[in-house]
Amino acid sequence: MFKRERLLEIIFLGTGTSHGVPPLDCVINDYALCPKDVCRKSLNDPRHRRTRTSILVKKNGKTLLADVSSDFREQALRHGIKEIDAVIISHGHIDHFGGLPDIRSYTWRKPLTVYASSETLANVRCVFSYMFDSGVECGGGIPHLRMKELKDTSEIAGFTVKPIPVTHGKLKGCLGFRIDDTAYVPDVKHIDPENEKLLEGLDCLVLNCLRENPGHSTHLFLSESVSLARRLAPKRCYFIHMNHEIDYIADGKELDSWMEFSYDGLIIKV
Ligand SMILES: [Zn+2]
Ligand SMILES: [Zn+2]
Ligand SMILES: [Zn+2]
Repeated sequence: MFKRERLLEIIFLGTGTSHGVPPLDCVINDYALCPKDVCRKSLNDPRHRRTRTSILVKKNGKTLLADVSSDFREQALRHGIKEIDAVIISHGHIDHFGGLPDIRSYTWRKPLTVYASSETLANVRCVFSYMFDSGVECGGGIPHLRMKELKDTSEIAGFTVKPIPVTHGKLKGCLGFRIDDTAYVPDVKHIDPENEKLLEGLDCLVLNCLRENPGHSTHLFLSESVSLARRLAPKRCYFIHMNHEIDYIADGKELDSWMEFSYDGLIIKV
């Protein structure tokens, strides 16, 4: 008899901030300004190299893609992604949906539904208007995408997905997602107390940690990310969306035992 799987498999497709690591500035300046030499180390250790943030969640043969990063094509090739059953997009910054044109290949056999806030859907339609307008010539054809607002907890491809409103600068409609008992919160500065409650009792928290130094207005930095994680007290926590100020080996030694910096290609079961 077929045994239904309770555990989620999470593939960290990308773990970097919007510039990726190395940022092109470090390449242009021969790594002279790189704060911890992480970018030079990335030449020999691919775990220091970060593509733009996205995770793939799998359970019972179903696959949910959280964000379609600007590096989606490379990530899909690296992991041999053959099927995607649904897509959720956290917010309307291009590093989180810039790979959408390459998702078209996954829409020919059956339509693919993309879930996001109404504000994010409007942003996506604005940036990639040609993908939704049959009156415009779209190289390769109009993808079979269904764009659907995610307002409340929904069953999506066999996962229970709860949208978590978060504050990320002045951009409207930014969300984190609770996917069964794992949460994906890629870009965030603040979560209102009533929404923090939606993140209690997690098996796994995947959380924004931009950099070590304080002073960023739209992203949590290291000490803020650690404080929020401790407050939410999941069983495990993986940090994502990091820039080159985070050395996952050296800085990782300072974290609590149940916390880790993720890296591209990391696969876990929770
Ligand atoms: Zn981002
Ligand atoms: Zn650097
Ligand atoms: Zn963002």
